[in-house]
Amino acid sequence: MPTTILRLALPSPLRRLFDYLPPAGCATAALQPGVRLRVPFGRREVVGVLVELADHSEVPEAKLKPALELLDRQPLLPAALFRLCLWAAQYYQHSLGDTFSWALPVLLRQGEPAEARQERFWLLAEGARADDPRLARAPRQREALKTIAQHPHGVPHSLLGKLQLNRDSLELLLEKRLLRIDSRRLSQPRGHSGSWLLQSELALNSEQRAAFEAIRAGLGGFQAFLLAGVTGSGKTEVYLQLIHQVLAAGKQALVLIPEINLGPQTLARFEQRFNARIALLHSSVNDRERLDAWLAARDGEADIVIGTRSALFTPLKNPGLIIIDEEHDASYKQQEGLRYHARDLALLRAREENLPIVLGSATPSLESLHNAHAGRYALLKLTRRAGGAQPPRFLRLDVKSRPLDSGISGPLQQAIAQTLAAGQQVLVFLNRRGFAPTLLCHDCGWLSQCPRCDARMTLHQRHHELRCHHCGHVERPPSNCPQCAKVDLRPVGAGTERAEERLGILFPDYPVLRIDRDSTARKGAMEQLFGTINRGEPCLLVGTQMLAKGHHFPRVTLVAVLDADGGLFSADFRASERMAQLIVQVAGRAGRAEEPGRVIIQTHLADHPLLVQLTEQGYFAFAEQALSERRAAGLPPFSHLALLRAEAHRPGQAEEFLDQACGLAERLLDELQLGGIELLGPVPAPMERRAGRYRAQLLLQGNSRAPLHRLMSAWLVQLEQLPGGRAVRWSLDVDPIDL
Ligand code: ADP
Ligand code: ZN
Ligand code: ZN
Repeated sequence: MPTTILRLALPSPLRRLFDYLPPAGCATAALQPGVRLRVPFGRREVVGVLVELADHSEVPEAKLKPALELLDRQPLLPAALFRLCLWAAQYYQHSLGDTFSWALPVLLRQGEPAEARQERFWLLAEGARADDPRLARAPRQREALKTIAQHPHGVPHSLLGKLQLNRDSLELLLEKRLLRIDSRRLSQPRGHSGSWLLQSELALNSEQRAAFEAIRAGLGGFQAFLLAGVTGSGKTEVYLQLIHQVLAAGKQALVLIPEINLGPQTLARFEQRFNARIALLHSSVNDRERLDAWLAARDGEADIVIGTRSALFTPLKNPGLIIIDEEHDASYKQQEGLRYHARDLALLRAREENLPIVLGSATPSLESLHNAHAGRYALLKLTRRAGGAQPPRFLRLDVKSRPLDSGISGPLQQAIAQTLAAGQQVLVFLNRRGFAPTLLCHDCGWLSQCPRCDARMTLHQRHHELRCHHCGHVERPPSNCPQCAKVDLRPVGAGTERAEERLGILFPDYPVLRIDRDSTARKGAMEQLFGTINRGEPCLLVGTQMLAKGHHFPRVTLVAVLDADGGLFSADFRASERMAQLIVQVAGRAGRAEEPGRVIIQTHLADHPLLVQLTEQGYFAFAEQALSERRAAGLPPFSHLALLRAEAHRPGQAEEFLDQACGLAERLLDELQLGGIELLGPVPAPMERRAGRYRAQLLLQGNSRAPLHRLMSAWLVQLEQLPGGRAVRWSLDVDPIDL
């Protein structure tokens, strides 16, 4: 009889499976693909996922080790999600074992049972009586038995202390069979009863209704929708009403939101609307809570799952709908390990599970618009703000040859003064934290360079520190120039801290609130700031892109963008798209209630065609222009990219590795006769040195996906074997979004 070989995915970067024998005494029928097993691996024990069974192995049988323990009775993931993981590992050219590590909650990776948490309950045994004669001389046991008898459903183990129940007495009672222990799941699954709604739904306007009806008609099968609705057009209301339909049909909804969006506001809208069990999966949820939420979703005990990027991998018992809010957001792309795009994988998941998927945004990505044009997504537009608010008016303010006072021009100061005097709020947007991006010696030109990066250190005046935003290096700012010893060191440029300070001096009668990663790091700080803003008194908000997303500030009527130029002349071809999205999103905070809003954009490039288009004709006109430029240049979405990055301690080492990699790729292109692929580079990374390592990159550009992926699959096997690869850290990024 042939031996059964288990082929497992293990948490290892190697792109291969590992062969084991079944654990001793384990029935073959229990070994279904998708179950976890604990196995010896080198000198450690690890948890692997069974991918397939085989009847022979390349490894000599004498060398095969048996697995130690089978951890699951059922496959961990539903078949469709299991296939999604296999596909993701293939597509992103990543080790399957590591792909599972990214897809599963950490406790499952460590071998924790995939079952809802059990708690032990202490109960009176059948026929036990509080006046049992054996307890005549044991007053403490008698007391304990009496207390337990008062709880007909039993006393949970965790409450023993609170009821002053002594463990030893209980153990003795257990021995005498006067008590028994029952294990039950901690949170009893609550069935659902009554209405799903806690508050009534708004009457949809005609555009919302058309979008809602189109998607509702598509419930029950795969279809992709791009809900392109201007900020404040009521996209969220459409999501909520769709989710209601899904719940009423006995199904679950999965809602993905960007990392930074998990403000209390978003969650509150779901909680206020629904009498439903909501599972939350985001970065501040601890490991146990994450596993519990995951299990609740899998077992159908959560009705709505809301989470960031990795929540995409949450299994659902009765999936009904997937929503990706702010689908253009960069946080959907993971930038380490498995470099997946949650939106792209969600589309695949929707197809595998035969579900509709809604991508929503006021500023859809050019990729998604292109897919809509190509007929792959149904495009649904909401062009008007819901509830009658007016769209904001845009003004490009040319600051060429105008003096800037900490980044603020004279005309902008006047506009701010007017707005505040009218009792309204002002939002000043500046996507740079800290006081000033660099410190300069006015005498000799010394700059506060990071010792480990090709970058300047940012001055953080409040903490009296120079910080590198790329590697985290921190120094005290010198009082004299380290180069010439003079004392004329000056901060150059402005960050949010400086704008905050300056605005406080210019407008001493109004509070200035700064909102960025530094000012909101403290727990509760964000809520406190929002509390002040929501009171509605005139004030100034200064902040980074944290302010751009999802918030609703009804009293803000002026939005000022201090510097729009970075996005117009960056080397990254996506910079202008990102700038446009940011401007539109920030602008969307203005005038969301009765008073109309206006947006002032300070720029040195007031005539730049993309900026003109954006401000005069809106995001969609901009996007069409940008798409036609991409088409002409053969850039994504009209071609496909993959980026091989490498970094090493010695200068030149990363390039050497990439040179070899490039040689291998050229040979493979020949051998496999693949056309339409270009190799660009290797070149030094845009910031060559970071955190003490020298970085370089090689770009692959293909006209179509299939040949590019054929090349990469063959190529990576060879790259893993390159001797030069040991000294460098390298990674492949398929569909990179940062070049
Ligand atoms: P978006 O998600 O597109 O930014 P929201 O759903 O947050 O838009 O809606 C913006 C504001 O308009 C919210 O205050 C919301 O309550 C309100 N709103 C949405 N739809 C309607 C409607 N049909 N009638 C009245 N007010 C609405
Ligand atoms: Zn100097
Ligand atoms: Zn640094």
